[in-house]
Amino acid sequence: MLLDIGLGILAALGVANLFGEIPTELFIMAGIGFALLPDLDFVYALLRYGPNNYRAMIRHRDYLHYPILYVAAGGFLALFISPAWGVLFLITTLAHLAHDSIGLGWGVAWLWPLSDKNYTFFWRYVTPGKELPRQLVYCWERARIDDLIEEYRDPQWLKNIYFRPHPFFATEIIGFAASVLILVRVLG
Ligand SMILES: [Zn+2]
Repeated sequence: MLLDIGLGILAALGVANLFGEIPTELFIMAGIGFALLPDLDFVYALLRYGPNNYRAMIRHRDYLHYPILYVAAGGFLALFISPAWGVLFLITTLAHLAHDSIGLGWGVAWLWPLSDKNYTFFWRYVTPGKELPRQLVYCWERARIDDLIEEYRDPQWLKNIYFRPHPFFATEIIGFAASVLILVRVLG
């Protein structure tokens, strides 16, 4: 989540610069909001199934994590609102999905509706001792995800990643801190 916020800030600054515009507070806040938007399906899953249903929490990406939705909506915004808003929406939402495709969770259905397989890139965190071989792309059958959750889920993932030095956590913190520093420099 911290890295999504950082990507939203950087994208807003970059897109404003690209279109020769001054980044307004509204544009930056929109960048952050767009970068977090796909996880509204997590809020839905949380309210509907409750926090103890870990399968529903892990599987929330069945609703708002289809890239084609954001390509279509970004194109619509670019055509009917403004190109800068369309590009900001596209970059931030796809950056969120790219972030979701590395490390945690069972990837993103990048090719939906052509295929409902989920894809993870480079590395998938699993319970210690059950590490998967390193691959550029992992492909997960949708029907097998419940089995994968049971086999590889680390019940201590929060503690093991976010409460001790871990590259995943370090990337989140460094990405977020760098974006805030750049934002302060640009606005200051
Ligand atoms: Zn997500």
